Amino acid sequence: MALYVHKYGGTSVGNTERIRTVADKIIKARRRGEDIVVVVSAMSGETNKLVGFAQEVAERPDPREMDVLLSTGEQVTIALLAMALQDRGCPAVSYTGWQVRILSDDAHTKARIENIDTEGMRADLDQGKVVVVAGFQGVTEEGDITTLGRGGSDTTAVALAAALKADECLIFTDVDGVYTTDPRIEPKARRLERITFEEMLEMASLGSKVLQIRSVEFAGKYNVPLRVLSSFEEGGGTLISYEEAGVEKALISGIAFNRDEAKLTVQGVPDRPGIASKILGPIAAANIEVDMIVQNVAEDQTTDFTFTVHRNEYRKALEILEATRQELGAKLVHGDNTIVKVSIVGVGMRSHAGIAAKTFAALAKEGINIRMISTSEIKISVVVDEKYLELAVRTLHDAFGLDRQPEAA
Ligand code: ADP
Ligand code: ASP
Ligand code: MG
Repeated sequence: MALYVHKYGGTSVGNTERIRTVADKIIKARRRGEDIVVVVSAMSGETNKLVGFAQEVAERPDPREMDVLLSTGEQVTIALLAMALQDRGCPAVSYTGWQVRILSDDAHTKARIENIDTEGMRADLDQGKVVVVAGFQGVTEEGDITTLGRGGSDTTAVALAAALKADECLIFTDVDGVYTTDPRIEPKARRLERITFEEMLEMASLGSKVLQIRSVEFAGKYNVPLRVLSSFEEGGGTLISYEEAGVEKALISGIAFNRDEAKLTVQGVPDRPGIASKILGPIAAANIEVDMIVQNVAEDQTTDFTFTVHRNEYRKALEILEATRQELGAKLVHGDNTIVKVSIVGVGMRSHAGIAAKTFAALAKEGINIRMISTSEIKISVVVDEKYLELAVRTLHDAFGLDRQPEAA
């Protein structure tokens, strides 16, 4: 029998009526003769609410306790969905992450799945039950509850699909697929029929929150066919798969953006070997991830050094940098936490020159100042002021004609 893993996100299980609708959808699939394992998120807003509670009682909540707290949201929805299914005469059973035994490492609040015990789920499926599993959570070897990072239910679903060798992993959400950019920012965004793992991974890494990065990594690694589709409307959604010969490659597949960026600059650093490591060493030691890095050409034996970090780490990074500045005898440290990163992504870019020039010209025409640039084979990212985010996304969407069917690369 065909086996599918369904995942329903927060909005799709946002109230009891929607949970009943999800139950109906699952029963329809059962009638087509499919075996179903369902992963659900917490009701929309619940995880944020729990994070808020933690911040109200502690300045730096303990990560282990944070996971005990955050995992409760999903426990509510699995039970409610199993009840709704049973009420409709469909045998169902719910499991938390630790009941399944979704084994993870002990990196609390951002744990990685290491192994999944599929025996119990298989036995339930054989008895004709729908298996409902809590997303976003696991358990360590020692028995501590973990969570998998925000948006982690996607990863639970893909990991289960890989472990159970499911025919497809279906991510049901509040949009009917992956678009050329976030349709909330650009209403002219177009749904993609398909996108490669590589492009989707790049889009997710550069800020498109439609799928958690790790879920795409996992799907690529284990070759799990992955589809994003609407939980409210019928339709084929977007298939994420490997590049196929014969399928026309779009020059640009989409535009991603990330609002969580901040940049820091050390000015007037003596230009000597080892400066980059002197500046970034203490930042890395504090576990702060650095994204873009730019070092200017030296003038009068000194140089400027700029890099970006997540906005949450901005204050901490500034403090560390100030200490480094004094040690190095640099002139000045300054920063800006009102910047964003906008990126264009496409495997077709590889074989095409002139994409960067076109990007910069389009932004210049709108008077958008580019603060930093970084490129790879399949993406171009620019850092701009926060106030230009929407304009930059729409301008580039237009410049590359993304609202129309793709030009062949
Ligand atoms: P869920 O709660 O179902 O996990 P998410 O909010 O995590 O849903 O992801 C769906 C949202 O992702 C959409 O509502 C949309 O605003 C946003 N999004 C960002 N980039 C894209 C994109 N390129 N295509 C589709 N949706 C996108
Ligand atoms: N409930 C978790 C979150 O809001 C996990 C998820 O929805 O995927 O991040
Ligand atoms: Mg999500």
